[in-house]
Amino acid sequence: MAWRGIFKIFSTIASGKNNLPEEKMDFEEETGDRVLNDEVELGDEEGEEVLALPLPHLPFFPGFHRPVQVKDPKLLAALQESYARHAPYVGAFLVKDEPGTDPSLVSGSKAEKNIYDLKGKELLNRLYEVGIHAKILGIRGDRVVLVALGRIRIMEMVDKEPLTVKVGHLKDKPYNKDDDVIKATSFEVKSTLSDVLNTRSYLKRTCTKCIDNSEFPRLADLGAVISGAKNLQCQQVLEELDVYKRLKLTLELLKKSMEISKIPELVLETDSKTTLSAAKFRERLEGNRDQIPLHVLQVINEELSKLQQFGASSIEFNETHNYLDWLTALPWGIYSDENFDVFWAKKILDEDNYGLADVKERILEFIAVGKHRGTTQGRILCFSGPPGVGKMSIGRSIARALNRKFYSISVGGLTNIAEIKGHFRINVSSTPGKMVQCLKTVGTANPLVLIDGVDKLGRQHARDLTSAVLDLLDPEQNAKFVDNYFFFPIDLSKVLFVCTADVVDNIPKDFLYRMELISIAGYVTDEKMHIARDYLEKSTREACGIKPEEVEVTDAALLCLIEKYCHEAGVQNLQKHIEKIYHKIALQLGRQGVSYEPAIADKPGEALVRCAGELSKKDVTDFKTIQESEAIGTIEKVVVDISNLADFVGDPVFNAERIYDQTPVGVAMGLAWTAMGGSTLYIKATQIEQGEGKGALTLPGQLGDVMKGSAQLAHIVARSMLFKKEPDNRYFANSKLYLHVPLRATPMDEPSAGCTMITSLLSLAMKKLVKKDLAITGEFTLLGKILPIGWVKEKTIAARRNGVKTIIFPSANKRDFDELATNVKEGLDVHFVDDYNQIFDIAFGDDQETGK
Ligand code: ADP
Repeated sequence: MAWRGIFKIFSTIASGKNNLPEEKMDFEEETGDRVLNDEVELGDEEGEEVLALPLPHLPFFPGFHRPVQVKDPKLLAALQESYARHAPYVGAFLVKDEPGTDPSLVSGSKAEKNIYDLKGKELLNRLYEVGIHAKILGIRGDRVVLVALGRIRIMEMVDKEPLTVKVGHLKDKPYNKDDDVIKATSFEVKSTLSDVLNTRSYLKRTCTKCIDNSEFPRLADLGAVISGAKNLQCQQVLEELDVYKRLKLTLELLKKSMEISKIPELVLETDSKTTLSAAKFRERLEGNRDQIPLHVLQVINEELSKLQQFGASSIEFNETHNYLDWLTALPWGIYSDENFDVFWAKKILDEDNYGLADVKERILEFIAVGKHRGTTQGRILCFSGPPGVGKMSIGRSIARALNRKFYSISVGGLTNIAEIKGHFRINVSSTPGKMVQCLKTVGTANPLVLIDGVDKLGRQHARDLTSAVLDLLDPEQNAKFVDNYFFFPIDLSKVLFVCTADVVDNIPKDFLYRMELISIAGYVTDEKMHIARDYLEKSTREACGIKPEEVEVTDAALLCLIEKYCHEAGVQNLQKHIEKIYHKIALQLGRQGVSYEPAIADKPGEALVRCAGELSKKDVTDFKTIQESEAIGTIEKVVVDISNLADFVGDPVFNAERIYDQTPVGVAMGLAWTAMGGSTLYIKATQIEQGEGKGALTLPGQLGDVMKGSAQLAHIVARSMLFKKEPDNRYFANSKLYLHVPLRATPMDEPSAGCTMITSLLSLAMKKLVKKDLAITGEFTLLGKILPIGWVKEKTIAARRNGVKTIIFPSANKRDFDELATNVKEGLDVHFVDDYNQIFDIAFGDDQETGK
């Protein structure tokens, strides 16, 4: 459609009834005499039935005419019929961009892609509700020429095929023509429009008159069309019935258009290096220019004009160039479409992570709530647990499930606030902070950002660093996040933040109350077997380029690896061991084709010796020969079994958590919690002096006050217990004792080892062994009660990992235990107790051997 024609008609309508210029005559000749009257008559409240014509490209504004290609034959036939019946009215509605399409792309093509396949309700859902009442001026082939009369809104569907809808006519809200604010705004629109037209000489002549003659509502419409803005922005102008607001929207679009057009001007005026740079920056902006905030466009223009003032080899040139490089590389207004489908999310979570049913359920709830609210923003999930339990991996899966890009920022090692807030732009090496770097890397403004290690922030004693991270997370602050490098606000409100922490107690308090904590305790052996087999081994094998048929790591070898080499709560260490195995397998497979040493494949032990050292020159030459000649013969499968496991990963490491098979007299096993997860620990009572009336207890000097208190109490309880069970036994009265508590295993100064201490003291006094493979945890009070303890899941997992068969928990922890997954509880003999007598009977039951 020629612009000239469009504006001819627009100027007719814009000029109003009292001033019918010659264009009006032209228009009447072409269309009959109803147009102006239609414009005035519309606005009645009655609904009207019209055929719905989808507009895949720009919306239509009253006063314009346009040819539209109709590809749906049924719709075309219906339009032809109405035209023949002299009822040539139609509703033209812009097609929404398909969900998942990139708004930065030219939207018409995307919207158009499958719109013609849609019918009835489906088609209706893809149309914007507010559209244009249009009159058919003529039909030629599949092209229907329309003139837009006024705004309408869809009320309901009347017919499915071709889609027919009942519409209501929309009127602009009344406004005061003499209002100073409206007048001033319209004046600004006019002057910006003139500026824009100065850069488009082909429109200038036709439009200038329209601008002068248009009333405010029409001026706003005209401005939106001339701004060249994309679908959504124009549709917003179309939907706005408040004239002042419509003028403001248009003004924004025009200003952006102006800023963009300044950039090519600059390109033309400057030297070749500047021209090249400016052209590069402009090209980057082209895709999403409508999404770039006006204030950023203004900064870009200012910087571009500075660029031409500096010599291409000057420091200032490079600084400004870097700045522009960052400015234009950020994904202004580019978002990935968030996916709230919980079934999809479940599939992704299962695909990436084994087990963790309770954690996954919480995440699905989070996504479902996000769906109802329309956003997942505002709530911050924090995954806590020892290293290697999958906190980061779960974060990555959430991003995948929600269709957001993923980026992780480890705050544990940060020491300088500039790493978050950016460096001030003082020299060429200045850079923005991590958050801006993140946006540039992911290329969308709504990634999922994992703040890794928030518990380590507190350790830095750097308040400003902590508060900088807090500002990032705070939904009220982050819409206006200011990076020092840019010095203007950047909107981070669409970023979804997720945090991780090893130790919840170390998370700064200001963070805690904004977060929803989800703890991951660790894995039992069978879970580790699944993770190793289905996830770690698979990904490592693929990373090494080894085919499944070339290798077999037996179940026995994996089990041995888990039980003897990797005692951790998570699987980080297990992953490293599996990688170690596969790297050696890769080397073995590589060597198999070497005819001079066929024995290597059969004897991994020898291979190990060779791998451990550097490859000899001869080896390298041989590898090359193999690759070049592709003379690898039949590859023999490498089998890693329990017998040759040590050849791949060395000898098993000493397990400090399981020192004794049967604890000796005076030793009892307890359960503790550390930053590495749950663990077992041994409490050992020893006699250091003997003699009438020497009864006393000494403790390790570094023991915390709470533990010291519970040890003293344990001594008293043990004495009274001994008196009850063996009244003649004077052991405690005549012995100075030392109670050893391993400090490394009990970094928390807490009282849950109380019952274990009593048991070790009694074992020593009665010279009786404590029941084999028994672990005891519980706090004892002077009133004789056993109080509940924390970390039941972590402690149970640690107990299983270390071969414990029987656990004693306080009764009040029964509920926590019952909630654990069956595979964690399976096969354990668990007792819940209220007083120490019950523990005594289990620990020193009749079948217990004496240690005499
Ligand atoms: P964290 O962040 O807790 O330290 P990671 O997420 O980095 O742990 O996990 C370490 C490795 O273990 C990753 O390769 C991860 O994919 C894997 N992993 C951990 N838990 C699971 C699980 N439940 N299923 C599959 N792989 C897991």
